[in-house]
Amino acid sequence: MRRKLVAGNWKMHGSHAANAELLAGITAARPFGCDVAVCVPTPYLSQAAVALAGSDVRWGAQDCSAHAQGAYTGEVSVAMLAEFGCRYVIVGHSERRQYHAETDQLVADKAKAALASGLTPIVCVGETLAQREAGETELVVKRQLSAVIHALGHCAGEMVVAYEPVWAIGTGQVATPEQAQAVHALLRAQLKAATPHAEAMQILYGGSMKPDNAAVLLAQPDIDGGLIGGASLKAADFVAICRAAG
Ligand code: PEP
Repeated sequence: MRRKLVAGNWKMHGSHAANAELLAGITAARPFGCDVAVCVPTPYLSQAAVALAGSDVRWGAQDCSAHAQGAYTGEVSVAMLAEFGCRYVIVGHSERRQYHAETDQLVADKAKAALASGLTPIVCVGETLAQREAGETELVVKRQLSAVIHALGHCAGEMVVAYEPVWAIGTGQVATPEQAQAVHALLRAQLKAATPHAEAMQILYGGSMKPDNAAVLLAQPDIDGGLIGGASLKAADFVAICRAAG
């Protein structure tokens, strides 16, 4: 039985005061029966590290550079994230692919850099509405995952995968449990062909997961947790999803 992971993606939200309240609300609700993490904006990593020290709630970043160091103004290396005590880094979120033109290869390079520094990449894959309507869901998610599997080689079993249909992110239009499970099953099959660890790997669902739909999604056999955007910004909602996963 795989242990579930619920990871919050705060996106570009937060302030010192709001974060303090949110993190206190999460830690006060422990223990959880699942792995729990928050992926916070880079300037707040040290705040998260201090607030979560000594708890089993993990923290991570929302992106990283594929480069180790150098003249890359504005970028943050995985070694820097590791110094902040990050356990996770999200790579290939659809907002990065869409607004920053991140390619499958760049996402794969970032995932590889993360693993090399001891961070677990949460690799996002997902189709747009147009791609789903054109019957291209399988093609798209397999292509996105394949680039990362290829780059990671024998370490592919160490990533976390997040299936995030783009049309469900921040829209309130959640995938049905059957739609999500179908894609998770084919991602698991793809992982099985690449690594002997596929059965143990966590494949998260992300896209308008909320307290009222989490349980039914998390009950699907290949859904091993959630990557949570909007609902990770309110402690009560995030904690309710963690409880549904536990
Ligand atoms: C996300 O941004 O990863 C996400 C899943 O957002 P939301 O939960 O708001 O749809």
